[in-house]
Amino acid sequence: MRVSADVLVIGSGIAGLSFALKAAEKYDVALVTKTELDETNTKYAQGGIAAVMTTEDSFELHVQDTLTAGAGLCNEEIVRLVVRDGPARIRELVELGVHFDHKDGGSSDYDLHREGGHTMRRIVHTGDLTGEEVERALLARVAANPRIKTFEHHFVIDLITTGKFVHNHAADRCFGAYALDKKTGEVHTFLAPFTLLASGGAGKVYLITSNPDVATGDGVAMAWRVGAEVGNMEFIQFHPTCLYHPFARNFLISEAVRGEGGVLVNAAGERFMDKVHPLGSLAPRDIVSRAIDFEIKRTGAECVYLDITHLGQTAAYKFPHIHAKCLSLGIDITRQPIPVAPAAHFLCGGVATDAWAETTVHNLFAVGEVAFTGLHGANRLASNSLLEAAVFADRAVQRILEREPERQRYGVPDWDPFGATRSDEAIMVTHNWEEVRRTMSSYVGIVRSDKRLARARRRINMIVDEIAEYYWDFTVNSDLLELRNIALVAQLIIRSARLRLESRGLHYSLDHPTPLPEAVESRDRRRVSWIE
Ligand SMILES: Cc1cc2nc3c(=O)[nH]c(=O)nc-3n(C[C@H](O)[C@H](O)[C@H](O)COP(=O)(O)OP(=O)(O)OC[C@H]3O[C@@H](n4cnc5c(N)ncnc54)[C@H](O)[C@@H]3O)c2cc1C
Repeated sequence: MRVSADVLVIGSGIAGLSFALKAAEKYDVALVTKTELDETNTKYAQGGIAAVMTTEDSFELHVQDTLTAGAGLCNEEIVRLVVRDGPARIRELVELGVHFDHKDGGSSDYDLHREGGHTMRRIVHTGDLTGEEVERALLARVAANPRIKTFEHHFVIDLITTGKFVHNHAADRCFGAYALDKKTGEVHTFLAPFTLLASGGAGKVYLITSNPDVATGDGVAMAWRVGAEVGNMEFIQFHPTCLYHPFARNFLISEAVRGEGGVLVNAAGERFMDKVHPLGSLAPRDIVSRAIDFEIKRTGAECVYLDITHLGQTAAYKFPHIHAKCLSLGIDITRQPIPVAPAAHFLCGGVATDAWAETTVHNLFAVGEVAFTGLHGANRLASNSLLEAAVFADRAVQRILEREPERQRYGVPDWDPFGATRSDEAIMVTHNWEEVRRTMSSYVGIVRSDKRLARARRRINMIVDEIAEYYWDFTVNSDLLELRNIALVAQLIIRSARLRLESRGLHYSLDHPTPLPEAVESRDRRRVSWIE
């Protein structure tokens, strides 16, 4: 099947949906997503969205908090424009039907939370299910919009660029993508003058993650394969407090719990954060994650505990979702501390973009967690990511509205399976999925060293070679495609981490424990054409 549209959107989280809704004011949009429309990182966001919403707060304070968290690597111009646009994007979400909580259930002032690293209360939220509410409201609008056609269970395999078909083309341009229809096994060709990567993060590169299964870094991997610039891949944010329980998977205990006075204690009940940072349990995420990692390794325990019992029944009222989930596992958060451990949570780097969300490949845009805009620097400030997605979705649309769509003139062939057959060696896929994630968790996690990174590099390179051999011989399926992507993303993380001979933000190395005097972003791109 061939699908032609003005705009191709890859992903159905806040980035893809907000962009699609605005782009559809002028253009026909095809939106593809690899499972159900609402299965996204966005849906699982609990805490909320950071924006300056009161007169006690100021743009300058939000800017300074973001820069402090970013540890010298934020692009200040980008930080300022995101913070400045924040309140307008929140108002727009409300107009689109998102219900944020107001004080005392009224309709005037928002009930603002405070989270780690923020000096003010500035997080708008919907209970502790903010992402679900945003996703619900945006999807309802998309469903009602006749100019947006959605394609569920379509897995985008690779982007289509001039680099693939036109030799010596002066500037590389993107004009669509190939996507596997997971229900029929056919590969369809989607053609469009503008393509948006809104494919989210890459938590699944690690064994313990807060992210849902769709977060396999596909966007970064496919952008890299067509030669787009990628940057700051070493900065992986680990969320310090993922619920630790044999029957809980990917369940996060929101930062807001620490914001409301939750205290981290070890198995002996000792508060270990007080001697680590002046903000104690409310210290920035990287510091808390490292301290928990240290405490777990020091004591041999499998987790630590987050104690919110001082709030009593108020804890159940403030965090109804967390309360219900924990209760279903036999933990009453109003009376008992919550067992927690750090989990891979957010990718600060990604596909490099300019201030209008365009990548280094013309007409290829990247918005949301897949993008590296310069906002987060070496560490993301809590609740700045939904904000970033809303702001850059808006800016990307502004850019495409003012640009004449280039209808591609090249003969794009349909997907050629090159005689691939069904695999009789699927064990390679299962085994390497586990191996990539285990290697990354053991050697490229919260605390790194030269030796650990070298070890990881050897193993991941071997796996990448094995996958490459296998890839062209057998028909593609989503397990294989995701494995190919997580292995490549792992390679990119290791590559950047090895080049950073310092500790900064989320990248902590035992061999290089101090930051270098000058903060430098890591940027790289593949230097050869897609087909070598
Ligand atoms: C548990 C949790 C809590 C969080 N809490 C907060 C918070 O409180 N505040 C905050 O600001 N941020 C929070 N974050 C981070 C934030 O949710 C994400 O950064 C943000 O939602 C990313 O939005 P997105 O639109 O870029 O990607 P996503 O929402 O992840 O959407 C990505 C989409 O791309 C699709 N996709 C991926 N690959 C392909 C492919 N190959 N083909 C087709 N489709 C593809 C996926 O299926 C999905 O639809 C949280 C994240 C998690 C996991």
